[in-house]
Amino acid sequence: DKYKDGLSKTRQSFSSRINDLVARYRTVDEDFFEDLEEVLISADVGVNTVMDLIDELKMEVKRQNIKDTSEMKDVISEKLVDIYYGDDAVTSSSINFQSDDLTIILFVGVNGVGKTTTIGKLAYQLKQSGKHVVMAAGDTFRAGAIEQLEEWGKRVDVEVVKQSAGSDPAAVIYDGIRAAKSRKADVLLCDTAGRLQNKVNLMNELSKVKRVIEREVPGAPHEVLLVLDATTGQNAMSQAKTFSEATDVSGIVLSKLDGTAKGGIVLAIRNELQIPVKFVGLGEKVTDLETFDAQAFVYGLFA
Ligand code: GDP
Repeated sequence: DKYKDGLSKTRQSFSSRINDLVARYRTVDEDFFEDLEEVLISADVGVNTVMDLIDELKMEVKRQNIKDTSEMKDVISEKLVDIYYGDDAVTSSSINFQSDDLTIILFVGVNGVGKTTTIGKLAYQLKQSGKHVVMAAGDTFRAGAIEQLEEWGKRVDVEVVKQSAGSDPAAVIYDGIRAAKSRKADVLLCDTAGRLQNKVNLMNELSKVKRVIEREVPGAPHEVLLVLDATTGQNAMSQAKTFSEATDVSGIVLSKLDGTAKGGIVLAIRNELQIPVKFVGLGEKVTDLETFDAQAFVYGLFA
């Protein structure tokens, strides 16, 4: 239901266009596929992913000897799910939690994508599930980022470790680790600055932060989550490329899916970058963060 509400924009545009196609063509032919291709591309599924999908669909149509377009909706949704999982049958959207040690999650992404909001929502979710959470205000660069995280800390009743604006992010995160350890916390959520203007700086800053984390907690960070704004389409895709070159990204959080009719970007990211989408943001409220489930997502599009 969360998916249904949060994806209403994508769903309305996507399913009505698919329905139109089915009504217009009735028989599955080359023109049908051409129009379908257009619908998928305009939903931000991504050209390469669409090509893969259309090939798969054509094979399936042959295999099952499908003539009638009305049978295509099920086939399309099945293939969309298959495309998401790819060859990797065990793609999991779950977080790599350490059962008997501190789990450290690093958040990266450019300003404005919803990084701070996502950290706040996740802190709430983890706290609800009984985990002791600490947050580290490592975005010392963006004006107001520290205060904003503190606001979230108050709202969800989670401690925020911070220093003054402009201080060294690695030092803040070091303090965060110390605090989390001394409180025997389960999870430390680390914010970072998202300065993309200069890739070398970004890379240096992230590797310094990671070095500190690795030194303090061997095996950490356990997740590096890249937050992307779904409403920015192909821009999100190019950010994903840049960040995955700068650091090892273990998963994507796709925020603001509620604000776009182009939810197909989820499939493009997974298929073209091989990085799993772990969470999706479906609104601004504290409860509007969902673990990503490709099946629920795709079926939500057709619901
Ligand atoms: P940051 O600069 O990356 O830390 O971005 P913020 O967390 O400050 O978010 C930027 C804006 O996006 C804020 O107004 C948030 O309320 C909004 N936002 C974040 N996530 C979502 C989401 O999933 N849906 C919607 N509709 N808005 C969101």
